[in-house]
Amino acid sequence: MSESELKRMVDMLRGKQRELRLEAPRIDDIAVERVPDEIDAIQFAMEREMAVGGLERRTALSHEVDAALKRIAQGTYGRCEGCGGAISLGRMLVVPWASLCIRCQEEEDSSQGGRWYRERGRVLDDAA
Ligand SMILES: [Zn+2]
Repeated sequence: MSESELKRMVDMLRGKQRELRLEAPRIDDIAVERVPDEIDAIQFAMEREMAVGGLERRTALSHEVDAALKRIAQGTYGRCEGCGGAISLGRMLVVPWASLCIRCQEEEDSSQGGRWYRERGRVLDDAA
């Protein structure tokens, strides 16, 4: 990756970091409140659940962006953490915080999916 490409990635990653910080919900949004009506309480609990879910996703992404900036500083950016090969520039432009090349990412996704099916299959077998 050339110097100017790398600089572009840093800009994109910093921009994403800012975006994630701006989007972060205020703590009031996920605070537990006493609600008199039961329906309101359920509605409120669902909204809180969604706010927390979004927060978790943002936190995870924020860690990935931080890790990518660290890799740039260390000079290991753009190298796949799975196979050590170069991650394609096209992929880096779409997912600047990617730490795996597309092949390793696909393997990771399918092995996780496989595990999920295996576990689910076992549960169904036990229930039968
Ligand atoms: Zn790889």
